[in-house]
Amino acid sequence: MHRIVVLGGGTGGTLTANRLRKAYGLGEATITVVDQNDRHVYQPGLLFVPFGLTHPEDIIRPRGRQLHPGIDYRTAVVDHVDLETQTVHLADTSELAYDVLVVATGAVLAPEETEGLTGPGWMEKVFTFYTPEGAAALEGALAMFEGGRLVVNVVEMPIKCPVAPPEFCFLADWYFRERGIRNRVELTYVTSLDGAFTKPVASKALGGMLAERGIELVTEFNTGSVDGKAGKLVSWDDREVPFDLAVVIPVHNGAPYVANSPGLGDELGFVPADEHTLQSKARPNVFALGDAAALPISKAGSVTHFEGEVLVENIGRFLAGEPLDASYDGHANCFIETGFSKAMLIDFNYETEPLPGHFPGQVGLPLLKESHLNHLGKLMFQWLYWHSLLPGRDVPGITSSMPSHGKHHPKTPKEATRL
Ligand SMILES: Cc1cc2nc3c(=O)[nH]c(=O)nc-3n(C[C@H](O)[C@H](O)[C@H](O)COP(=O)(O)OP(=O)(O)OC[C@H]3O[C@@H](n4cnc5c(N)ncnc54)[C@H](O)[C@@H]3O)c2cc1C
Repeated sequence: MHRIVVLGGGTGGTLTANRLRKAYGLGEATITVVDQNDRHVYQPGLLFVPFGLTHPEDIIRPRGRQLHPGIDYRTAVVDHVDLETQTVHLADTSELAYDVLVVATGAVLAPEETEGLTGPGWMEKVFTFYTPEGAAALEGALAMFEGGRLVVNVVEMPIKCPVAPPEFCFLADWYFRERGIRNRVELTYVTSLDGAFTKPVASKALGGMLAERGIELVTEFNTGSVDGKAGKLVSWDDREVPFDLAVVIPVHNGAPYVANSPGLGDELGFVPADEHTLQSKARPNVFALGDAAALPISKAGSVTHFEGEVLVENIGRFLAGEPLDASYDGHANCFIETGFSKAMLIDFNYETEPLPGHFPGQVGLPLLKESHLNHLGKLMFQWLYWHSLLPGRDVPGITSSMPSHGKHHPKTPKEATRL
């Protein structure tokens, strides 16, 4: 009987455990999922909470209920992993022995790492929408906001869903227009990147959309401290951005237990893994996916989903002593809400930039273009998340590898610069 232990019961841990349960009969493998709480948050929904478009209770479900029967679910904090003895040590002092370990403990926000961020003004005029509590508190603050300088700041990369902060800016523009006070609000997006996004083509498109909406873009700003009392962000090179209301995306690290598990993670607590097989660099019987993995691709739910399909195949191959499937190509797919019931879609992988065209084929959702259809896709995704993606069902027409059909590939370098 194989003992498979999955650390983390979020997007990656849940879909992996459910797919594994389908692949192995009850007599073939025990599957145990460990998470520190029983609150599964549909995180893309957090974007809509500050604008009153959804509420935390609509995007949170009990974690254990998302797991198929026959999966053992433990609510416990992981304390550390002993790779030598193949044992997970839980904070309640119990232990779990494994033959295969899946690390899916995501990324942890560390606002306390930025000087002043959680000091005076925190949750009064300095907020984050990356937690249900922060997003709900921000809803109240936005409703009270009658004008002034609203700043959205990404302290440092990597973060989960790098398009969520520009999306917040677009929705803020829409929200203040709806309230008839847009002319009284200065919107500024402050990022440590050299543009609005990590990939040049999408960055150019998003940068243009920010400019069209009168949202100022401040780049290469590495936030050193946040002064909530005086209302200013200060960079390490002493530039200042003043604010009346700040929406900050704090530093992200791997889960703290990774640092206490010799050999498992890197200096940020993320777990290095082979970018095509998802096998960890630490041990052949340890796999990592989602935000917890140190891979050169966005930390996103879509990425986690596509990785999960290959990872589950590879656990099967590993246990059967077969060569691993190296087919994960870095496929990522993100809907970018742009306000006024429109959204843009980008689809890319390790090698290919987000390109214009259609997804998933010649006919489909428009890429790199705002459309109402994409907005509907973004809204529908929540249903797919709970009913298809988490239960481990295949989504018809969507594959873990990036589709090329339907994309306009530039034929010359000159054409590429015009995209
Ligand atoms: C505001 C926002 C908007 C987003 N929008 C999108 C989007 O539009 N599209 C998209 O694709 N992605 C989006 N994402 C990103 C997406 O939600 C994540 O990339 C995805 O959930 C990652 O899945 P994961 O399993 O790696 O991590 P998670 O789903 O975060 O799960 C990690 C789990 O590990 C548990 N854990 C951590 N440490 C421990 C410990 N020591 N012991 C026990 N358990 C532990 C946590 O409780 C958590 O349940 C968004 C994220 C945010 C915050």
